[in-house]
Amino acid sequence: MENFFEKLEPSYTFEIFPPKGNASTAGTYAVIDSLVSFNPDLISVTYGAGGSSRDNTVEITSGIQNKYHVCGVAHLTCVGTTRNELRDILNRLKANNVRNILALRGDLKDESDLGEFHHASELIKFIKDEFGNDFDVFAACYPEKHPEAKSLEEDLIHLKEKCDLGVKALISQLFFDNDIFCAWRDKARAIGIKQPIIAGVMPITSAAQISKVVELCGASVPERVRRFVNVYGHNQGAVKEAGIAYATEQIIDLLARDVEGIHLYTMNQADTVRRIDAGIRSVLYTRRYKSN
Ligand SMILES: Cc1cc2nc3c(=O)[nH]c(=O)nc-3n(C[C@H](O)[C@H](O)[C@H](O)COP(=O)(O)OP(=O)(O)OC[C@H]3O[C@@H](n4cnc5c(N)ncnc54)[C@H](O)[C@@H]3O)c2cc1C
Repeated sequence: MENFFEKLEPSYTFEIFPPKGNASTAGTYAVIDSLVSFNPDLISVTYGAGGSSRDNTVEITSGIQNKYHVCGVAHLTCVGTTRNELRDILNRLKANNVRNILALRGDLKDESDLGEFHHASELIKFIKDEFGNDFDVFAACYPEKHPEAKSLEEDLIHLKEKCDLGVKALISQLFFDNDIFCAWRDKARAIGIKQPIIAGVMPITSAAQISKVVELCGASVPERVRRFVNVYGHNQGAVKEAGIAYATEQIIDLLARDVEGIHLYTMNQADTVRRIDAGIRSVLYTRRYKSN
């Protein structure tokens, strides 16, 4: 089975989204053409909770794995889905040589969405029970707690339950404040979570994007970020410049703080990735040399 952790630490990974519905996959493949030139250890492909892009997730992840020979990770959500539907998707992924899954619950609009699965841990157990070691399973984690969780501590207990089911690694929700991430990572280690924790970084590319992101995931926005969004907000080009610079510095600092991996939420913007990659590459390789 493909195992990117046999490669050097820290890992360097990207997330993309597939086209919606019947839209052409050509644009997505053009993005992947560029992304693979930065030698990511894996590329993960999101999965539309509304069902619009599920087939495209299977197709694009298979393409990453088989056409580009890069490790493809398929996101898979279980909310509102039946065991039969999940079994079918997992069989299709397996038949296409995709052996890495990011197992997620998916977002709830209301409790009636739940269906046969209530938590990501149930999906992880389902994959392990039905498919044994056919898949390496990744799970999500939340340095500022999941928005539904009553407390950070309660959320960590549920995260540990996922880890104890045999998760390969954790990929974090995006965050902008490295101090918050590192303090949370210490708490996760203190309760016995041993899996690599890959830090999720999203470059800010517009003022509208940051409002949307904060509304969706509740990430804390440092004063420095608020300031550049307020001052440069009317000029999208300027916000993007500042956002790329911030993400680059954020990654350089995370690498200095011994993170086990960086996961870039690319938003399918290959040019933004190219700029960040140029800024972090020597630091990334210096860390890899130091660790090995
Ligand atoms: C890296 C990453 C990638 C993502 N990709 C996608 C994607 O492609 N498509 C998509 O639709 N969404 C995606 N999401 C969003 C994700 O689906 C939502 O955040 C969702 O609300 C929670 O998913 P989860 O897997 O973390 O759920 P869970 O681990 O089930 O946690 C959800 C909540 O339930 C609580 N909980 C867990 N277990 C229990 C239990 N046994 N008893 C009581 N409470 C419990 C947790 O503390 C938490 O508050 C992604 C998120 C991340 C961080």
